[in-house]
Amino acid sequence: MQGLMMDYQLTLLPMLERARRLYPKKEIVTKAGPSLERSNYGELADRVGRLANALARLGVKRGDRVATFAWNNLRHHELYFAAPCMGAVLHPINLRLPGDQIVYIVNHAEDQVLFVDPTLLPAVEKLAPHLKTVKAYVVMGDQLPQTTLTPVYSYEELLRAEQPDYAWPALGENDAAAMCYTSGTTGNPKGVVYSHRAIYLHSMGLAMADSFGLVERDVFMPVVPMFHVLAWGTPFVCTMLGAKVVYPGPHLQPRDLAELIQAERITVTAGVPTLWLGLLALLEKERYDISSLRGMIVGGAAAPRSMIEAYQQKFNVPVIHAWGMTEMTPLGTISRLKSYQTSLPEEQQFAFRAKQGTPNMGVELRGVDETGREVPWDGKTIGEMQVRGPWIAREYYRDERSPLSFTADGWFRTGDVITVDSEGFIQIVDRTKDLVKSGGEWISTQEIENAIMGHPKVAEAAVIAVAHPKWQERPLACVVPKPDYKDSLTKQELYDYLRPRFDKMYLPDDILFIEAVPKTSVGKFDKKVLRAQYKDYALPTG
Ligand code: AMP
Repeated sequence: MQGLMMDYQLTLLPMLERARRLYPKKEIVTKAGPSLERSNYGELADRVGRLANALARLGVKRGDRVATFAWNNLRHHELYFAAPCMGAVLHPINLRLPGDQIVYIVNHAEDQVLFVDPTLLPAVEKLAPHLKTVKAYVVMGDQLPQTTLTPVYSYEELLRAEQPDYAWPALGENDAAAMCYTSGTTGNPKGVVYSHRAIYLHSMGLAMADSFGLVERDVFMPVVPMFHVLAWGTPFVCTMLGAKVVYPGPHLQPRDLAELIQAERITVTAGVPTLWLGLLALLEKERYDISSLRGMIVGGAAAPRSMIEAYQQKFNVPVIHAWGMTEMTPLGTISRLKSYQTSLPEEQQFAFRAKQGTPNMGVELRGVDETGREVPWDGKTIGEMQVRGPWIAREYYRDERSPLSFTADGWFRTGDVITVDSEGFIQIVDRTKDLVKSGGEWISTQEIENAIMGHPKVAEAAVIAVAHPKWQERPLACVVPKPDYKDSLTKQELYDYLRPRFDKMYLPDDILFIEAVPKTSVGKFDKKVLRAQYKDYALPTG
């Protein structure tokens, strides 16, 4: 047909170009030790050009994978653009994974060059003999420290030797831009490759007012690591908008975060619930001014309702609950009240806000029962969540397990079990593998643990399935009391708290007090570890 639109490819370079032309003065700040290092989008564009020249000199070609082993910082942000815009594939590695998994990931991705933060050198030195494809290491600092890595280069020395102009290639929107590996699986991690188009559209999707709703005026602090689904795509959307970014580096303790929010007047931040639970505990004891925050985006694991209420009521900070996955670049749903829901009683508003929300524009979603039928929107019937859309993976990277996760009609099987209510809000009931199968019924561990975390004396709670001779499985609650109640909190108190909230069959068969809930490499509750630990736990009978 004649008279149509331009054939304009959705690639990442125009994001960087826009920031360079319109927002060269806007800052990118990194916490480095006690001080803050300040750069801006003008310098970023210049340095990204130098970095692309350096990558080319190191032999990086189109399609080659460029790995990073780094915290959230400016140099990492530079790599987020230099590698994809020159046609290579950025591959941030989850540095908290066990060594054998990192070795698997690097060899499976066939990474050619590996960039590493100076503080993380010892870990990479230990793994280097097993990394089969890495031809060069680059230490992301000013000078080259003593190291056994070879051949090895200093990031700043490489940049100093290059020019800022780079002859950027014309890329196709379906070219690979980046890849990440999933962290939650029991076997080897699975690779997901993001196209330029997926990241571009996902960035537009995040910026929408009913989504993350970021704007140029925001000061955004990504606490979610840049190795966890590309910091949820936020470095791209901030660059696209020219929004100021503040990177915490490796400084992720509640006090570090509170100080950064206060000093830099952060307006929006994002991360997993455990971080924000930690910050909340600090804020309840010590005074920090966090009044600049207009949004705290929480995802990666269920945000306890009690936490959403506490931030709102005590600090007037809206916690915005979102759900996503590595396979989804990652945004799937976000919990924003509809216009007419804002006049509901507060109690009901919180009930909606504690759900994972409605699908972001760009994501199609359905709950499917065992017979393959879509479940009704009744807020009760459970089904497996399946999704499709322009930023959702079609398959895993070179992985035989792919067919298990994708349906014949082109949907991705998330492995999350949901209900959908009459407003279209989804609630994650559990991961399929976390559900407790008791008699013929499914029990949601997330629902019980969220309720327990609503108890004022509880810091963290995780519920797991334990084998039961009569019921097949029954729930066991593992509870971490807040430090002040370590010796005084009793099981009885918790049962008294839960009884009015749950039918008898949903009450945990036992409650254990533990020191801490084990965490995964991205800071979520690691129930695999708890399940293994209490595999043979004898539940009380009678
Ligand atoms: P990852 O790929 O590491 O981001 O993990 C994705 C998984 O984390 C999802 O399949 C969910 O099981 C879980 N998840 C992410 N966000 C949420 C949320 N808001 N509530 C409950 N579970 C979540």
